[in-house]
Amino acid sequence: MLDWPSSLKRAFVPTMGALHNGHLALLREARQECEEVVVSILVNPLQFGTDEDFASYPRTLERDLELCHEAGVDIVFCPLASDIYHPAFDTRICGGWLAKQYCGVSRPIFFEGVLTVVNILFNLVRPNRAYFGEKDFQQLFLIQKMVRDLWIPVHIVGVPVVRESNGLALSSRNAYLTREQRQEASCLYQAICTVRESVLEGEKSIDTLRKIALKQISLELDYLEFVSEISLKPIEGFVSENVRLLIAAYIGNKPRVRLIDNGIVSDSNACQLGNRSL
Ligand code: AMP
Repeated sequence: MLDWPSSLKRAFVPTMGALHNGHLALLREARQECEEVVVSILVNPLQFGTDEDFASYPRTLERDLELCHEAGVDIVFCPLASDIYHPAFDTRICGGWLAKQYCGVSRPIFFEGVLTVVNILFNLVRPNRAYFGEKDFQQLFLIQKMVRDLWIPVHIVGVPVVRESNGLALSSRNAYLTREQRQEASCLYQAICTVRESVLEGEKSIDTLRKIALKQISLELDYLEFVSEISLKPIEGFVSENVRLLIAAYIGNKPRVRLIDNGIVSDSNACQLGNRSL
């Protein structure tokens, strides 16, 4: 456990490793805003279902340590799961209604695993600020909500999605994909861009916009929802302000890889291929 920071501002970036440019964007922002940067690397068993990829999740610790060093990270915390969870460990933070929606439908224990480990890591690292990607927008929202609801003294910073040049959101799980699949998977971002263009051209009906999005997606869909980015509640009827499109889909067979993406579809100036943010 680290001591509480004195006058220094301590930044914290929790990760599961297999670091890529998305993680590095979080590290850069942390480095710019704080005097001390702590990164954790832990493939957290609590957030994986029994049929999910815990055993095969990419683990590249040596390379991760090099990248952290190059990014000017002060402390890399890479505990074993058994260091964190003692044998009789049996406590969870559940996350309320939202943890059972969207990604929570096909991954029913995912968010309680994430919220529980983030809480433990906050207690061990004692950061002033913690950095999370908008790539996992529902996760970011739930962490922000947990911090507010439980009066946890950490400021949460959201960092825009980092993408490949074809628009595919970077993810450690992209390592499972072939080059062709990476190209095909960029259809999720294309769907977000097309919906956004349609909104800008005046189409406001959610039903029509859903059809427009589905036309772009050649993958097996898990869900596609228009939500308020203020409440994360579903939007029905017509697009107004602050609407975000959340998508999850599967690609491939062996392994069958689940991809997520999201983006604002209701305002005017972000959706460009190669742009790091939506
Ligand atoms: P993970 O290692 O996948 O648990 O991710 C660790 C952190 O990096 C989370 O806050 C993610 O949202 C964030 N992250 C992962 N991929 C990206 C990306 N493409 N752009 C921005 N942040 C990301």
